[in-house]
Amino acid sequence: GSTIGIIGGGQLGRMLAMSAARLGYRIIVLEPHADCPAAQVANRQIVAAYDDPAGLDELARSCAVVTYEFENVPVSAAERLARSVPVYPPAKALEVSQDRLVEKNFLNGINIETARFLPVEDDAQLADALARFDGSGILKTRRMGYDGKGQRVFRNVGSGGFDGTCAAMGDVPLILESFVPFEKEISVIAARGIDGSLAVYDPAENVHRDGILHSSAVPAAISAATAIAAREAARRILAALDYVGVIGVEFFVLPDGGLIANEVAPRVHNSGHWTEAACAVSQFEQHIRAVAGLPLGNPKRHSDCVMENLIGDDIARFESLLSETDTIVHLYGKAEARPGRKMGHFTRLIA
Ligand code: ATP
Ligand code: MG
Ligand code: MG
Repeated sequence: GSTIGIIGGGQLGRMLAMSAARLGYRIIVLEPHADCPAAQVANRQIVAAYDDPAGLDELARSCAVVTYEFENVPVSAAERLARSVPVYPPAKALEVSQDRLVEKNFLNGINIETARFLPVEDDAQLADALARFDGSGILKTRRMGYDGKGQRVFRNVGSGGFDGTCAAMGDVPLILESFVPFEKEISVIAARGIDGSLAVYDPAENVHRDGILHSSAVPAAISAATAIAAREAARRILAALDYVGVIGVEFFVLPDGGLIANEVAPRVHNSGHWTEAACAVSQFEQHIRAVAGLPLGNPKRHSDCVMENLIGDDIARFESLLSETDTIVHLYGKAEARPGRKMGHFTRLIA
């Protein structure tokens, strides 16, 4: 068998490595932290920064194809690798998903609606932007945010008192988004093969707590028309990026069933973990199939289910979950259960 390289050593890389092993591949993980979740199950780890030229060149020499498990891989690193080895998903997917402003312009450009947004570079621009959104909105760092980090909510604020806000956000480029009065949140996990073939999983209904995904239920309680529109939007995104691999697309669902795209993750996605329990081919295997040039698997769901994350001290539920019938439990091998840290997840099959 040949070798697949994965940039990033978190739980997503770990689960990709496990699926790749089952298909007969060897895995090399590039990750600066030793003993990371992915390295525990990979054949080998290159311990190097994501932009370290020597580490990248070694990865390129050792692998038939390179992929990644997080969207903040430096574009320059993906481009350096791509000179000597195929890198999937393509660098354009990184560029689009790394910056919320670029991402929203991309989505609007292919006729996918997003929240209204304005770039914010300083406190005066923030005051101006908030005034245009009637004093309410979510201020986000354009880059590097996850699990709701790097966000600040404003509700019905006046026209002043913003001095120091941008500095408190780290003096980085920001974006103000209008509040979307959503009824629920859903996501679509979809894959595109090297030959352009598609596999789209059923939309999941997602609940967030404190900005972190809490649970994903499938099927989502949405109309057939909303589900079709979500799948169609995912297809359009995959085609526009000439994409190869699995993508996660998050949406807000309005009370009338209309969809507003939130963000795109060019990788396997937490809200797709249910696929390992309720589909013959999980999102992880699907991603490996796509980047390795294998035929995609059928994304059909054989059971209804609810996936729930085990965050921080939730890990104490491990043994009682093991005793449940029709519950599939998955831990990430992280030693320390810090608050807010994703330690594992479980999926309850319902029918
Ligand atoms: P992730 O871990 O999914 O990458 P993130 O840090 O990139 O999260 P977002 O997905 O932008 O953050 O926002 C996190 C959550 O905050 C959303 O799932 C939603 O519940 C809420 N939220 C974000 N933006 C908006 C908005 N414009 N209107 C209403 N709610 C929002
Ligand atoms: Mg995000
Ligand atoms: Mg999100």
